[in-house]
Amino acid sequence: MNKLGMPTPDVLHSRGRSQTVYHQRAAEAARTRFGRRVFVRGVLEISNYCRQNCRYCGMRRGNRDVARFRAHYEQLAQLILDHRPASVTDLNIQAGEDPVAVREVALPLIRALRRETRLGISVCLGSFAPSLYAELKEAGATLYILKFEMANPARYAEMEAPGSFEQRIESIRGLAAAGWFVSSGFIAGLPGETDEDLLANFALARALPLDGCSVSPFIPGDETPLAAAVPGDIDLTLNCMAALRLMRPDWVIPSVSALNIAEPGTGYRRGLRTGANLVTINLTPAEFRGDYLLYTRNRFIMTEERILTAIAAEGLAPSPGSLADFYHTRKVNGTPLKVGERAVNA
Ligand code: SAM
Repeated sequence: MNKLGMPTPDVLHSRGRSQTVYHQRAAEAARTRFGRRVFVRGVLEISNYCRQNCRYCGMRRGNRDVARFRAHYEQLAQLILDHRPASVTDLNIQAGEDPVAVREVALPLIRALRRETRLGISVCLGSFAPSLYAELKEAGATLYILKFEMANPARYAEMEAPGSFEQRIESIRGLAAAGWFVSSGFIAGLPGETDEDLLANFALARALPLDGCSVSPFIPGDETPLAAAVPGDIDLTLNCMAALRLMRPDWVIPSVSALNIAEPGTGYRRGLRTGANLVTINLTPAEFRGDYLLYTRNRFIMTEERILTAIAAEGLAPSPGSLADFYHTRKVNGTPLKVGERAVNA
């Protein structure tokens, strides 16, 4: 790590004893800030229609083999109101970039949940005009997840990532300026990625006005132009997570389900051992899950049982307080955190 808290290539490629020590330091940093509690969020995948064509994503508009779905908001509202697991304090609404789903599913669903529950609501729906973001905020969502995907603009264009790199960054900054809490993220191990590319992700994350950040290993999607590419390395991904945690101890950093695809059975728990403090239970109705095709049809679905087992096995416990309340108060279990970094970096 250099003096700005940024990782070096050596640290990102570390293995063995030095890697274990690095991960322990990251886990310790998370525990010092957040205690042993992790936030438990549910995710609902509401549509797999997408107007973007990201080369790495199975939902890209060019993929003609995927059956497209758009859920009905009444079905989802009933599911969440009547059947959500007790541990879930927040809900994330996710979709391909589908303006129809935002209007016809996300907005009425958020309004219904806001009326009937205290759930914190986050959205991960893509890049839109500021007026649509404003409608989502007005409806009651408070956290926007918009990943910058990769910090090298030329690679971003090559991967046909959403819109242009400049627009994506402008959206992230615009959301924060409009009063959203914002989480972003990047993919580790995309084909052709250099150390310089990797390090640029940390510099960009650090410069953006963020409240959280994620790292996902690249998973070659079965039905994408990158199907035959080499998958992202789990150790590299975990080292990136540890580096993010040490760079920004105050950030909310998820253990993403793709870690379990990269390393079946153990990847997710290793994420929790590397300073993650957010887990996600998949609440998408079973009839749609198979077609929400980020990577492969054989997804490892993170059910409540799997999540609670993983947390307990790592000596962690579900947070009784929501992520949304945390962002509003910056307190964990009633104790204020030493924050201020956001103002400095914003
Ligand atoms: N459409 C929204 C957007 O663009 O922000 C949200 C949904 S998008 C499918 C969610 C995230 O999945 C993307 O931001 C990307 O980082 C991730 N993703 C897609 N394909 C992936 C792959 N093959 N490997 C790893 N992550 C992937």
